[in-house]
Amino acid sequence: MKTIHSINPATEEKIDSYDRISEEIAKEKIEVAQKAYLKWKSTSFEVRSKLMRKLADIFDDKKEEYAQLATKEMGKIIKQSRSEIEKCGKICRYYADNIQDLLADETIQTEAKKSYVTFQPLGVTLAVMPWNFPFYQVIRFAIPAIMTGNTVVLKHASNVQGCAFALENAFEKAGCPKGVFSNLNLESKDIKNVIENKNIIAVSLTGSEPAGRSIAKIAGENLKKTVLELGGSDAYLFLEDIDIENATDIATFGRLQNNGQTCIAAKRFIVLAEIYDDFLTLFTKKMGEKKMGDPTNEDVFYGPMARLDLRDEIHQQVKKTFEQGAKLVLGGKIPERKGAYYPATILANVKPGMTAFDEELFGPVAAVIKAKDEKHAIELANNSNFGLGTGVFTKDLKKGEKIALQLEAGNSFVNKLVVSDPRLPFGGIKNSGYGRELSYYGIREFVNTKTIWIE
Ligand code: NAP
Repeated sequence: MKTIHSINPATEEKIDSYDRISEEIAKEKIEVAQKAYLKWKSTSFEVRSKLMRKLADIFDDKKEEYAQLATKEMGKIIKQSRSEIEKCGKICRYYADNIQDLLADETIQTEAKKSYVTFQPLGVTLAVMPWNFPFYQVIRFAIPAIMTGNTVVLKHASNVQGCAFALENAFEKAGCPKGVFSNLNLESKDIKNVIENKNIIAVSLTGSEPAGRSIAKIAGENLKKTVLELGGSDAYLFLEDIDIENATDIATFGRLQNNGQTCIAAKRFIVLAEIYDDFLTLFTKKMGEKKMGDPTNEDVFYGPMARLDLRDEIHQQVKKTFEQGAKLVLGGKIPERKGAYYPATILANVKPGMTAFDEELFGPVAAVIKAKDEKHAIELANNSNFGLGTGVFTKDLKKGEKIALQLEAGNSFVNKLVVSDPRLPFGGIKNSGYGRELSYYGIREFVNTKTIWIE
C-alpha cells in the first residue's frame, strides 16, 4: 500500500500522511455509492434540501478549521481560504432554495394529451478535482449532482487529501446516507479502472489540459459523458479611456489572488498603445508593493505556490519567455527562503508565439501585451488555444459589451474580473474544456433529459 504525504508549501514540512486505497476498496466504495444512489434518487427535493442546509451550517461552524487546513495544504492566504469556505455554504443554500425551479418539468405543447420534459438522475458520478480551491471546486460540482439525485465519488488532487477527507466527513455529519459522497484516495493512474467501472455513469474533471485529454479519452472509449473544466489564459483588454489607477488595482488583485493560481485569473494583460507605458509603470509599482509571505499571516497579499514543482515550472516559463525576447520588468527570481514562494513577476512586450502568451501561467506572473488598436487587441485576445474567461475595461459600456461579444471565451465580463456565480453558467470553449457548471445549464449536464408523451 502506498502512502502519500501532504506537505505545507510555505514551510516544506510534512503535515500528514494518507494511505492510498487499493483497487478492491475503490470498487467497494463505488458499489456502496451505487447502492446509495438506488435509494437517494427517490428522495424528495425537501429531504435533499434539508441535508444541504445542514451541510451549509457545518461549513459555517467549521469555517476556521477548514480554512486553516486549506491554507496549510496548498498555501492560500487565510483570508481567501475563509471566503472559499463561506462560498461553499452559499452554494449548498442556493441549491437547497432553488432546486425545485431549476429542475422543474418543462411542458411542451404537441399533439399529445400531455407532453413534457423531465429531468432524472443518472447514477454514480466521478469527480476528479484540483487543489487550487480544494473545498469549493468539489462543492461546485457535488452539490448540484447530489441535489439532482446522483451520488458522487471524488478523486481529489494528491496534495489536498486532508481537505478531501474533511469533505467526506462533512457530508456524513450533515446526515447524508453513506455512499452519497465518498472520497477515493487514489493515484491518477488508477482513474482508468474507476471510469471503466460499470457503475460510474459520467465524469466531471476540473484540472489541467493534459488531465482533460487523458480522462476524455478513457471516458470516450467507455461511452461515458464528461464535463471538462480546464485551464485558461484569460485576456483582459484595457482601452485608452480607463481610469488607470483603478484598472491597475484590479489587475494586481486579478493576477495575485489565490497566489496566482486561479483558472480564471487575469493572465494576459492587453493594453492599448496610447496607455501602455503608463499602465505598465503603475502595474509594476503595485505588483511590486504587494507583500508576499506566510499565508497564515492576516496582512500578506499572497503566499507561496502550492508545490515546489509548480513553482519551478512557472520559473521555467518566465525564463523561456525572457529568452524569446520579452522584457522582465519585475520579479522572475526564486527567492532564497524555504517554501514554494515565487515573487510577483511581470513580463512586458509579450507577443504571440512566446511561452507566456501561448501557455497558461498558473502562478503570480503577468504577461503584458501591447495592442495597436481595439481590433488588434481583440485579435490578440482570441489568438489563444484557451477560452475560459476574458474581460474588457472601458468607460464606454456599449463598446465594452460589443467587444465582450467578440471575445472567444465561455465568460466575458466588462469592467469586472470574471467570477463564478451559481445563477450563471460557468465553463470554457476551445482547450479550456466543454460543458457547463452551475445555473440552469450546469444542472442539466448530469441528468437524463427525458421526454414523456401521453396520448
Ligand atoms: P491537474 O494536475 O490536472 O490535476 C487535477 C486533478 O486531475 C487531480 O486530482 C489530479 O490528481 C488529476 N490528474 C492529473 N493528471 C491526470 C491524468 N493524466 N489522468 C487522470 N487524472 C489526472 O491540475 P491541478 O494542478 O490540480 O489544477 C490546476 C489546473 O486546473 C489549471 O490548469 C487550472 O486552470 C485548472 N482549473 C480549471 C478550473 C475551471 O473551472 N475551468 C478551475 C480550477 C482549476 P493528482 O493530484 O493525483 O495528480
